[in-house]
Amino acid sequence: MTTALPGVATLQADFATALPELAVPWQAAATPSPRLLVLNEPLAAELGLAPERLGSAEGLGLLTGTEPPTGSTPVAQAYAGHQFGGFTKLGDGRALLLGELTDTAGNLRDVALKGSGRTPHARGGDGLAAVGPMLREYVVSEAMHALGIPTTRSLAVVATGRDVRRETVLPGAVLTRIASSHLRVGSFQYAQGIRDDDLLRRLADHAIARHYPEVASDPEPYLAFFRAVVAAQADLIARWMLVGFVHGVMNTDNMTISGETIDYGPCAFLDVFEPSTVFSSIDSGGRYAYANQPVAAEWNLARFAEALLPLFADDRERAVEIASEALASFRTEYDAAWSAGMLAKLGLAPAADAQGLAADVLDLLSASHVDHTTFWRHLGAAARGDAEPVRSLFLDLPAIDEWLGRWQALNPDADAMDRVNPLYIARNHLVEEALAAATDGDLGPVTQLVDAVRAPFTARPGLARFAEPAPDDFGQYQTFCGT
Ligand code: AMP
Ligand code: MG
Repeated sequence: MTTALPGVATLQADFATALPELAVPWQAAATPSPRLLVLNEPLAAELGLAPERLGSAEGLGLLTGTEPPTGSTPVAQAYAGHQFGGFTKLGDGRALLLGELTDTAGNLRDVALKGSGRTPHARGGDGLAAVGPMLREYVVSEAMHALGIPTTRSLAVVATGRDVRRETVLPGAVLTRIASSHLRVGSFQYAQGIRDDDLLRRLADHAIARHYPEVASDPEPYLAFFRAVVAAQADLIARWMLVGFVHGVMNTDNMTISGETIDYGPCAFLDVFEPSTVFSSIDSGGRYAYANQPVAAEWNLARFAEALLPLFADDRERAVEIASEALASFRTEYDAAWSAGMLAKLGLAPAADAQGLAADVLDLLSASHVDHTTFWRHLGAAARGDAEPVRSLFLDLPAIDEWLGRWQALNPDADAMDRVNPLYIARNHLVEEALAAATDGDLGPVTQLVDAVRAPFTARPGLARFAEPAPDDFGQYQTFCGT
């Protein structure tokens, strides 16, 4: 079934039709005075949507969910998940899936809203979102996309004109999220939780058709599907690690089947390279600390395997054996992706042995409290013959000089390094500054930051401050969930 909002968008309802058990038809809350804060024009073009129509009254009706295309039924998705290790029934508490749309490349993309009001899955929450956190998702997801990291995208943020009560009263907003789908490990855990093997199978078939159609013809399609998700996640997490991204809330409901990064809540980029870094205010045990992310991902994939067991074999013991063997590929795939990425960051040819070099320099970065992004970019300058900027970052000069000598002997390629080591990332102090200004009504800093991070590898005049580490007085950075 497809429905159209003439001139704005035509939507399908594939998920809601195929998996009605996971889709509660629901309506978005009214928005007193919707106002478009940001619109992602490059993304709109990819989706074949006209920016001026999205900004019209009908467009705002779509972007807030208050006037979905005639005949379309927004749905709140049901899912479960392990949150910090504990299993819970969840679902979209403040989100709605409007439907799917075919983009200009022919790919099906979900159009969903976040902050569109309470749903039957809202539990104690108010269903709302504030301007600051929604712009945060917009900025950081755009930065991730520009870095070449698979991610959900943000089409727009619309201020609702409604107040949201948090520690203080804040202006409310709705974000429109575009995803290759919202299927997640937690979707499968929902079917597992209600012991509905028929739903489980249909869900797996739906996910295969949508994301991994090539496995459908495999003699063991569900096992091949599991392996494909393991590979996609191993690659994704390696990319996070290489760029210094800390997701912050890697619960199983926040791990996609597509391999896209999802749920920009307490996420942040490393400033100083410190493996134990945690930004999230609620992650006191460091479960989702920077260095633990591969372990957390593997743990989540083990939960995914458990949910899929009935599809692997009728005999449970046999199914567990099959699953364990398949899960073992996570480490191999992760190590391969990380090592290849590290070689590229070091500017070295694939034949070079980067393992030791990488491990040694990461130790040096941590020991000298060096800014992660600055180090890699300055290392490019060192490959061009100017080692002073990079040397100036370290306390232990003999150690870095010894390391630089070993690395330079392998003839690093400076231009190749500049293509993978970003100059402009969504730095924490810049994000905070931009969000504070936007909450006070000034969107200028958000626009400038988005412009900077959209071309992260290309040095441009006038953007020096976007490449600088946080000022000393920025202090310990803390981020929050459920904002
Ligand atoms: P998250 O940590 O963002 O993945 O959210 C975990 C769960 O809490 C999801 O089911 C969300 O839909 C729900 N949730 C978060 N914030 C709110 C809110 N303000 N109102 C209702 N549900 C919420
Ligand atoms: Mg979530």
